[in-house]
Amino acid sequence: MINIACPVIGEKEGRLIKEVLDSGILASGKYVSQFEQSFARYSDAKFGIASVNGTASLHVALLMCGIKPGDKVITTPFSFIATSNSILFCGAKPIFVDIDPKTFNINSIEIERVLKKEKNVRAVLIVHLYGLSCDMEAIIALKKKYKFMLIEDSCQAHGAEFGNKRVGSFGDTAAFSFYATKNMMTGEGGVILTNNEEADKYGRQLINHGRYSHSLHTILGYNYRLTNIAAAIGIAQLEQLESWIEKRIINAKKYNEAFKNLDFVKIPYVPKNCRHVFHQYTIRVSSIERSKFIKYLADNGVNSGVYYDTVLYKQPLYRRRGYGSVICVEAEKAVGEVLSLPVHQSLSENDVDKIIEVVNGYKK
Ligand SMILES: *Cc1c(COP(=O)(O)O)cnc(C)c1O
Repeated sequence: MINIACPVIGEKEGRLIKEVLDSGILASGKYVSQFEQSFARYSDAKFGIASVNGTASLHVALLMCGIKPGDKVITTPFSFIATSNSILFCGAKPIFVDIDPKTFNINSIEIERVLKKEKNVRAVLIVHLYGLSCDMEAIIALKKKYKFMLIEDSCQAHGAEFGNKRVGSFGDTAAFSFYATKNMMTGEGGVILTNNEEADKYGRQLINHGRYSHSLHTILGYNYRLTNIAAAIGIAQLEQLESWIEKRIINAKKYNEAFKNLDFVKIPYVPKNCRHVFHQYTIRVSSIERSKFIKYLADNGVNSGVYYDTVLYKQPLYRRRGYGSVICVEAEKAVGEVLSLPVHQSLSENDVDKIIEVVNGYKK
């Protein structure tokens, strides 16, 4: 079976882990700060704060923007549930707006529609879904006009670019995940990026019990620290990331070429000024029954995935919180049609050829 995700773990990861174990410095240590700096530099941001996972990073990224109970935060309903849950962690209220059906990302026209009628929208939490940047030109223009805080959920988009600038450097803060299936990983892990020195200081307190100095705790904080072991893995992984992204892009191009004339497949759209890093290669299937196609793929050795099969406001958690009447037409259409095929860096050329052959061989 060709899996939908498969982390690559090299010799260097093992060597650095061994070094950390031998040093006895297992929690915060030199690799944590080295990793924070390297990842921030890689992402065109000034400051990086390593944390336990992407979800905690989102929570801290929102708190660093001053999100507090009762605040309204605009976000997309077409994402992993951690995105909107991080708004709930702050006691704030998610406002779901629809996506652009071409990119699957939040639609800036829909954001403005809400900003015009809702008072006191404090922030917009965008998601660069599948590894494709949101329309940052339009969103930054809205930020200037309406003065909201901007948070980038970049958990799927390490190294993605909009107009030669990397995601994670546009917003007031950004969150990344290094979960095992992401484009690079530390097992579990995350990082928060910002260009603001004050926010960076505040974020460092938030992930470390609100500690201000050795024995002084000035705010309510958490224990969201990354371990030195995980950071060592991250350092080795980051060195490989660009070559892995190249591989994903090459695989995606092969698929695009092979599937562009298939009438039941719509290939991913990539705007000219974006570098899509293909965390997922996601097609739309509309004229066939998706579940049958998924079973056919599995029967022929190809594991695929549906991200996501439910809009967030329809999850029981959100239903109970009064989101029963929300309708985002394009997101609701997308959940019924999206399908992700393996595109990761561990695929051999044979694997890619086999996936192409299997997809092309589908008889409706
Ligand atoms: C993976 C992911 C998260 C959560 O990251 P974890 O490290 O699993 O906590 C949040 N948002 C999106 C869009 C993700 O893909």
